[in-house]
Order: sequence, then structure tokens, then C-alpha cells
Amino acid sequence: MRPLPLIALTTAELRRPDDVRQEEHGEPPRIEAALGLSYPEAIERAGGLPVILPPLRPEGISALLDRVDALCLPGGPDIHPATYGAAPHPELGPTEPRVDAFEHALVRAADRRGLPILGICRGAQMLNVARGGTLHQHLPDVVGEGIRHRQTEHGSVPTHRIEVADRGRVPQLLGYAGREVNSFHHQAIAELGRDLVVTARAQDGTIEAVEQPGERFVVGVQWHAEGLRAHLPLFQQLVAAALGGAALVAEAG
Ligand code: MN
Repeated sequence: MRPLPLIALTTAELRRPDDVRQEEHGEPPRIEAALGLSYPEAIERAGGLPVILPPLRPEGISALLDRVDALCLPGGPDIHPATYGAAPHPELGPTEPRVDAFEHALVRAADRRGLPILGICRGAQMLNVARGGTLHQHLPDVVGEGIRHRQTEHGSVPTHRIEVADRGRVPQLLGYAGREVNSFHHQAIAELGRDLVVTARAQDGTIEAVEQPGERFVVGVQWHAEGLRAHLPLFQQLVAAALGGAALVAEAG
């Protein structure tokens, strides 16, 4: 039997000691790495074995990537604009420069190895930034408030539609139900990074999915696919790619 593919999953949120509630008999407050369990659960459901990564020192990245089969970048806080050489916008939210630096280096190292990548929300933005792209730091400046990209409903509830390209993995992996997505983002992709094309947009023009045309699986989605049953095929395709299998669907054009 083939071993389960290892899918490296970063933790993009850090909790300050002041924000951590101390449990009776628990450990003392300290900085904690935080990750919603819905990410590793989606990877498991898709047939992969998730490996959760803290922000490592750069010298650990290569040794780690030697042993994993794919990379998944989760949602999290705003990315600091210094990561792509811009000045902070007044509405920039809290950022984690240590995580930004780690994930940026991780994506670049994964690219050098040709590993499959799935980026979710902030993860899609980091994929774009690591390839030289930029972000809109405060999306309402660009598209207004006609579509609420920061919904208050639960993550299992889709709140806006996406319009998909004629070709590409995302359009083919999502059925009709997958054209309704949830939305929990403050920022969005502006200028595209290297070798990425847009394969889904919201009706206000916001970029909602990017991917790399070609055989290698590199996909970023702006919504929280880990919270939507209809979007499990994105994780299943990541796992298939991690196993080195042939692409299940055609590439973007
Ligand atoms: Mn959205």
C-alpha cells in the first residue's frame, strides 16, 4: 500500500500571552501558534496526512520540504506590505511579520522543488506575493461595499457568487454548488505574481482564485474552502498531486 502523502500546513496566526486564557492546571501563558482544525480535517478527509508547521528558521525549510509531498497555506491575518515593497495603508490590520517571512521563504523553496501548493485566503495572497505579486491592502477602497467580503455568517454558509474562467482546475473541480463561496478577507490579490492566471472572480471584480497553468498543481482560492463540503475536491486534487498522480482535470489556458 502506498504511504499517505504528507501535506505540510503552516500556522499563520500567533496568539499573544495576554490573549490566551489560562486553563486551570494548564500551561502558563506564552505565545501560541493557532490554526483552525478545519484545515487538517479537510486534508485528512481528502486522504492526506497533515503535518502542522510552526514558523521555522530559514535553515529548517529545505530539510522539512525534503520530507513532505505538498504544501497547504491557510488563512490568517493581513500580510504586511513590506513583504512586497509597499507602504502600510491606514486600514492595514494586525500583521505577523515573522510568519510572513517564513511562509514567503517556504513558497519560494516549494517552487524550486516543484511541490504542489494549495493556498487558502491569506494563503492564496501569500502564494501571489511570494511570486512577486501585490495585494490590495483594504479591499473596500477598490471594489466598494456592494459585496460583503467579510461576512458575519458562519463559514459553512456561502454568501457571494464567483464567476469562473472557461478553463482551469478551479472551474473544473467545483460543481455548480461550488460557485457559491464564503468570504472572510480584508485584502485581495492586485497585480498577479509569476506564472499565475485568474480563474475565478467575484461579481465586483475581486480576484477569488488563481492558479498556475501546466501540469503542476498550484492553486490559490480567496474563500475558506476547508469549510465548504462542495469544495473538498480542491483538497482531493492536492492529495492526488502530492501522490505524484496524473492531473485529474485539465490545466488552465
Ligand atoms: Mn470574497
